[in-house]
Amino acid sequence: MKNDKSVSIVISAYNEEDNIKELYRQLKSVLKTVPIRKYEIIFVDDGSKDKTLYYCHELQQKDDTVKIVHLVRNFGHETAMTAGMDYASGDAVIFMDADLQHPPEYVKQMVDLWLKGNDIVLTCRRDNLETSKFYKFCSNYFYKILNMLSDTYIPQSTPDFRLIDRKYIDFLKKFNERDTLFRGTLSWIVPLDKMVTIDFVAPQRLTGQSKYNFSKSLKLAVNSILQFSVKPLYLSLWLAIISGIFAIGLGLYVIIEHYVLNNPTPGYATIMATIVFMGSVTLLILAIMGAYIAKIHIETKKRPLYLAEFMDMSHNKTMSVTVMPEAEKTTRSNL
Ligand code: UDP
Ligand code: MG
Repeated sequence: MKNDKSVSIVISAYNEEDNIKELYRQLKSVLKTVPIRKYEIIFVDDGSKDKTLYYCHELQQKDDTVKIVHLVRNFGHETAMTAGMDYASGDAVIFMDADLQHPPEYVKQMVDLWLKGNDIVLTCRRDNLETSKFYKFCSNYFYKILNMLSDTYIPQSTPDFRLIDRKYIDFLKKFNERDTLFRGTLSWIVPLDKMVTIDFVAPQRLTGQSKYNFSKSLKLAVNSILQFSVKPLYLSLWLAIISGIFAIGLGLYVIIEHYVLNNPTPGYATIMATIVFMGSVTLLILAIMGAYIAKIHIETKKRPLYLAEFMDMSHNKTMSVTVMPEAEKTTRSNL
């Protein structure tokens, strides 16, 4: 029996001319088996230089479930997904890549789990047949460092191939952060135990090459750490404490040697103690500045204070409420 709910499938594509049609074909045959009445396939063309957009138009002409979001230039995968999400109208949104590394056959399982009441269905990539050992090594350490620094746990090997219910899509749309890691924002909103995960093995790209070269991946990694952690700003505080203790220890040693043991140490010890002490004072001032910068960093993101659903059974309706910064709080009295 078909369900009344609708699903949007958002596919970000950058120079994927050889993959678009095959992906569409496979998706369509899976969607026939999915127990929902309505769906849309949104191709986000991320400023492709090849015929990707042309082929999307071709598909759109014969199938009105196909929608196109054309970005005027290449904005990058994360931004392309955000754009697709902004235009999606389904009760749930499935994000996937255009190169068939996110196999369409899992769409059915995702929708089934969603219809059973799971708001978020993640996928866990058990293996990626394409990535080198070096890439896997870097990726392991990146996630270790990111999770050590960040207050939000961001799981590894959970690609952007996922289903998100409308409720959380609306929450995600309240975030207007630049250079962010899409999956990190979701982890910030929803605790991991509220999501279900299905495993898959990512096959090789159908055709073409990965758009993520080493420098693009490094940029994404650095941006993610900056976006999700202010802990590096406190590094100078720890260095200030360590060098301060060292300077005091050295100072005490010089004083005891000189005045108690009557065995004056050569001049360099005094100079060393002074230099280390001045160094720790400088680091302490940097740490104070770091603390203020951290505050500015957090404030400029303008994240919602909290995300909640307001449930008022007396009116038999559920309302999503997000309390924004002070200025907008007045609207609450109208509820
Ligand atoms: N992509 C995009 N914009 C970009 C780079 C990539 O929309 O600037 C798309 C790309 O077409 C693919 C998906 O994002 O559908 C994942 O990219 P890719 O396969 O190159 O990444 P990998 O799978 O190697 O991590
Ligand atoms: Mg890929």
